Amino acid sequence: MAAMVTRALGLALLLLAAGCAAEDPAVVEATPPHVCDVKVDGATIEIGIERGKLDLSEAEIQRWVESGARAVVAYYGTFPVSAASVSIHAVEGAGVSGGVAYGEGKPSVSVDLGAHTTRDQLDADWVMTHELIHLAFPSVDRSQHWVEEGISTYVEPLARRRLGKLTEERVWADLVEGLPQGEPQPGDEGLDRTTTWASTYWGGALFCFLADVEIHERTKNRFGLDDALAAIRAQGGVITASWDARRAFEAGDRAVGVAVLVPLYDKVRETPVTTDLAALWKRLGVEAHGDKVVFDDRAPLAAVRRSISRGP
Ligand SMILES: [Zn+2]
Repeated sequence: MAAMVTRALGLALLLLAAGCAAEDPAVVEATPPHVCDVKVDGATIEIGIERGKLDLSEAEIQRWVESGARAVVAYYGTFPVSAASVSIHAVEGAGVSGGVAYGEGKPSVSVDLGAHTTRDQLDADWVMTHELIHLAFPSVDRSQHWVEEGISTYVEPLARRRLGKLTEERVWADLVEGLPQGEPQPGDEGLDRTTTWASTYWGGALFCFLADVEIHERTKNRFGLDDALAAIRAQGGVITASWDARRAFEAGDRAVGVAVLVPLYDKVRETPVTTDLAALWKRLGVEAHGDKVVFDDRAPLAAVRRSISRGP
């Protein structure tokens, strides 16, 4: 099965299993004992592991956390906070089955790891990166929860791509499969007013994608969404801060010198907006063939496509 189907499906299962909300009381668990630290880009990440139940060694888990943190650094240019903690809870089965990020007190991430997870499964995992990306954006009102999830959903594969974990073809094939789920469904009322899984995760990701393309196009690839998000973080917009999403978008727009995030937010927050994704793939030079894609470098936005998936 294609990695992307697994990922799209995995995202749904992850939400069902644990939710991703920073304050979901259902997933509050006892903190496992502190086992080791990783240092990434000057930040210290304390790792707690529920000992004695996992097939994987502590060193393998440590490398997994470090790889997720390095992906975040590859996208944001720095690790978003100077100190964080990651708790690994052992659960039945194999694979990463749930995750959540917290902003109260010390920035922290909690992930459920199957007792019989293999090293290959850890290497292919995206959940750790998704959760660590949450540390790099302020906590927002529940109505704007889609912004937090949309950023983590959209940025995670681009961040892992910059680390060489995914090919450009995989990144775009995943977007072609995933993003249509973010289109409004009958009865949806705009992203601030719709709380379905599809609109929260993929509606938010579609917002990020449209903003990224527009920033790249209007700045002739000088800037992208990564620059806007890095500026939001640099101005203190991390998970321990409570902001209105509009404040973050204003900071992002200022940083890239074009008004993209605020106008797009005003367009989609209360009204369902449909995107002509087929036309956009054509302009970007992305042709889908089954679960694979081929690129057309003569397409008008081919340079935008390359800039988005290759980074600076
Ligand atoms: Zn999340």
